[in-house]
Amino acid sequence: MFDVEKIRADFPILSREVNGKPLVYLDNGASAQKPQVVIDAITKAYAEEYSNVHRGLHYLSNLATENYENVRGKIARFLNVPDEDEIVFTSGTTEGINLVAYGWAMENLQAGDEIILSVMEHHANIVPWHFLRERQGVVLKWVDVDSTGALDPQAVLDAIGSNTKLIAITQLSNVLGTVVDVKSICAGAREKGVPVLVDGSQAAVHMPVDVPDIGCDFYAITGHKLYGPSGSGAIFIKKERMAEMRPFLGGGDMIREVHKDEVTWNDPPMKFEAGTPGIVQTIGLGVALDYMMGIGMENIAAHEKELCAYARTKLDGLNWLNVQGTAPNKAAIFSFTIDGAAHAHDISTILDKKGVAVRAGQHCTGPLMDHLGLTGTCRASFAMYNTKAEVDVLIDALELAHELFS
Ligand code: PLP
Repeated sequence: MFDVEKIRADFPILSREVNGKPLVYLDNGASAQKPQVVIDAITKAYAEEYSNVHRGLHYLSNLATENYENVRGKIARFLNVPDEDEIVFTSGTTEGINLVAYGWAMENLQAGDEIILSVMEHHANIVPWHFLRERQGVVLKWVDVDSTGALDPQAVLDAIGSNTKLIAITQLSNVLGTVVDVKSICAGAREKGVPVLVDGSQAAVHMPVDVPDIGCDFYAITGHKLYGPSGSGAIFIKKERMAEMRPFLGGGDMIREVHKDEVTWNDPPMKFEAGTPGIVQTIGLGVALDYMMGIGMENIAAHEKELCAYARTKLDGLNWLNVQGTAPNKAAIFSFTIDGAAHAHDISTILDKKGVAVRAGQHCTGPLMDHLGLTGTCRASFAMYNTKAEVDVLIDALELAHELFS
């Protein structure tokens, strides 16, 4: 059974106070807190089992390599990917998407080729494609969301033309909370021979992810949002796509042989992992994924669904609050502004005085802000350890902010 109080007890930071009030941490969309098991695993990896990986023949190097490489299988299980060689370790989603941009798209796309993006992408899934636009004349095609923030999969498929070479799309908006039907997009794209990259940074935190069922070519995740360390992450890359890729970063580990006039590559996935990696971060991510899988992604999703419905009703009750994103299929991420009032930063400062941590600003989504006609929003983003009582604290703090600014 899902016991939120038991889960909360696993996260030491949740029992601290901020500004003299119990912490209500609602900035999980930016980065999640870490359970004690992850903190312990990091300490153990450094205190007892640390060495560089892959290179040494001594005991500690073998142990660190085993601990590190075991995580590949854990990530594969987490994403339901049968072949762990399709998992490339990264430092996070940003590196994962840049790997695809430099390693795959730069090799395979030419001037006039098109990449389809939704207007609600995070900059990590926009800026690498702008590099291709600037350097190679690749065209970026944008698909809008509707007035509720929903994205019609058919609108994405309708945007496909004879020059479309990639669809790069989020599965869950970090601002609107909209869940995107990426499975339908992948099915339609496959019929037209267009590869799909799914940005799973937010989705993988809140729902079970089955990559083969989605049917995408690339699926990127980032460890620090998954209750793991920052600087960890991974990207699933289909074998066929790996075969079309050049390495992105060059250095140790990704090579087989290096001579003065020749270099040959290691086999994938190591072909795409250069230099000393985030050894301990990755080990910590493995423990975080074990922790999540131990609770069960279905159970996490069910708890958050209830929390989302409760928060939605409460926030809807504030008729001076404008919630952005009301799509029916929505996760517990709420962006809002207050009528005629304060800048998002001012609202978040008042919430902070009440111990409520939210994010304010553009949330790395410039094109979405342009689409919404906003300069920024406040965002409350929930995690598995949040409670209905914390929603109530948020509501009280918002009422105070409204009072002060009206
Ligand atoms: N994509 C989405 C939807 C995100 O929310 C984020 C982080 O906020 C990223 C990509 C980038 O992740 P990272 O900064 O961990 O690489």
